[in-house]
Amino acid sequence: MNSQTIVIIEDEPKLAKLVKISLEGEGYTVFTAPDGRTGLKLIEEKNPALVILDILLPGDMNGFDVAKAIRSFSDVPIIILSSRISEADKLLGFECGADDYVTKPFSCPELNARVKAVLHRASLSATARSSSKFVLGELEIDFSRRRVFRGGQEINLTQTEYNVLQYLAQNAGKVLLHEEILGRVWGPEYRDEYQYLRNYISNLRRKIEPDQSNPRYILSKPGIGYYMPDSRDLR
Ligand code: CA
Repeated sequence: MNSQTIVIIEDEPKLAKLVKISLEGEGYTVFTAPDGRTGLKLIEEKNPALVILDILLPGDMNGFDVAKAIRSFSDVPIIILSSRISEADKLLGFECGADDYVTKPFSCPELNARVKAVLHRASLSATARSSSKFVLGELEIDFSRRRVFRGGQEINLTQTEYNVLQYLAQNAGKVLLHEEILGRVWGPEYRDEYQYLRNYISNLRRKIEPDQSNPRYILSKPGIGYYMPDSRDLR
């Protein structure tokens, strides 16, 4: 038995109940929400290990909107439940940050198996992340000890500076939107605080860049966001 928490966002009460009972039978703690907004609150509150998300939901947010909103502050695995099966929708779901898809109608054992598989993958990648090091040019980040080095010399960062740097490094090669970084590091209510982010990026650059005026580790996409190049693109 395990005590991992799962949040289900599904507006059909019978289906939500059926899935809840079935997952509780597997030992999970399950909470349900009938719409996207309630679901988002529940996720922030319960910090679940997994979210099961219906696409067609009442209110002003459909499942895709909810998935995007979740990704602004959390990397919790998301399984989308949908009766839509077009490849375009599937792609949209993955673009919105979903980890897997289950098509309605489904059987409970089928969903339970997917849940188990997604949680297993998530735990593997969490282990890989926490035990691994990130190396880019002379910059080295030790994720397990939360320490940063350049050319072998340790660089002292504040917690928040480290969190920004780690998020950029774990997504090296991808441009992260200002809102994404703010939502992830500071919380969803800070998504518009661009000045915060600018200050932290400038502090980080002062500490890690050999030449602040010509950064090579933290690059800007003006008006969009920041990114770390991956090692192939390092200038
Ligand atoms: Ca629905």
